[in-house]
Amino acid sequence: MFVSIRGRVLLNVEALNMTESVGNYVKHRRVPVILPDGGYTTYFVPAISGESVAHGFQVVLAEVAKSKGLPVCKLCEKGIFLKSTNKSVFKSAFGTEVPNNEFEVEKKIVSDCVVEDVGGFLYAEEMNVKRTSNFFTGYMIPAKEALDNVVIEPQLHSRYALGTQFAREQGQMIYYVELSSAVYTFSFDFDSKFIGKTTFSYENAGKEVVNNRKQRIQATLDAITKFLIEFCFGAKKTRFMPIVEWESLVIAVSNDTWTVPSPFTEKYIENAQKKLEKVKYDTKLFVFPRDGSFEEVVINAMDEAKRRL
Ligand SMILES: [Zn+2]
Repeated sequence: MFVSIRGRVLLNVEALNMTESVGNYVKHRRVPVILPDGGYTTYFVPAISGESVAHGFQVVLAEVAKSKGLPVCKLCEKGIFLKSTNKSVFKSAFGTEVPNNEFEVEKKIVSDCVVEDVGGFLYAEEMNVKRTSNFFTGYMIPAKEALDNVVIEPQLHSRYALGTQFAREQGQMIYYVELSSAVYTFSFDFDSKFIGKTTFSYENAGKEVVNNRKQRIQATLDAITKFLIEFCFGAKKTRFMPIVEWESLVIAVSNDTWTVPSPFTEKYIENAQKKLEKVKYDTKLFVFPRDGSFEEVVINAMDEAKRRL
């Protein structure tokens, strides 16, 4: 079962993905994007990285999996996604020594941590074991029509009040945080094919190593529901919580890989319907706002995905 999600979300006054700070100046992430406008013009625009989106999703996944009594390792359950990087991380996460062959390493990690089963890991020691993530996401960038109008603006804030000894001793602490506002694209896919199965050593690729594969996929779908409805990603939300309004969303549920076309283009919903006329793997589309409220569309799509398990 394959779930593909594409959307457009209006984010006002957001600081969801910051990069370095230079002194007291905190910068918003920027990426180069090409706009076809007769020729091709490159713009440097605010963006939210796929790593940021993936981190948020895995925090929700860890919580949902734990609440359903599914295993999550000691690091992932705290939102520390070191993902079995090396021997010492492996020991801290699972409380045991590292097995001595690739299949057993992947089997142990997959069985004992749903986050790494779904989100992949890279064990890099003398022996390397890699598991590719079963969910896919990427940079959120301003939508095509918004691209040449997007700005990033530094906002001034101060920490110490004038008239207090602290301001007299240190001066008034001022700092700048870059904010932006734009309609952003959103992309997220999930493929359930390898959940609970090993993939790395070719002799054992596709071998089921858990006895609760279905519950793991259900937990992932529940995590997607919460993640989308509660907008569970991005940084600086304690004081820079953005004003969030989903403009549109398409979720495709299929029996094989079927991705919704790029939401960079305004016509993406129409493009998805055109694609569906030509190619489908028992594909069903759920479209917001066409098919109901945002919550209804997400819940109905995930229920359809669950029916296919
Ligand atoms: Zn883990």
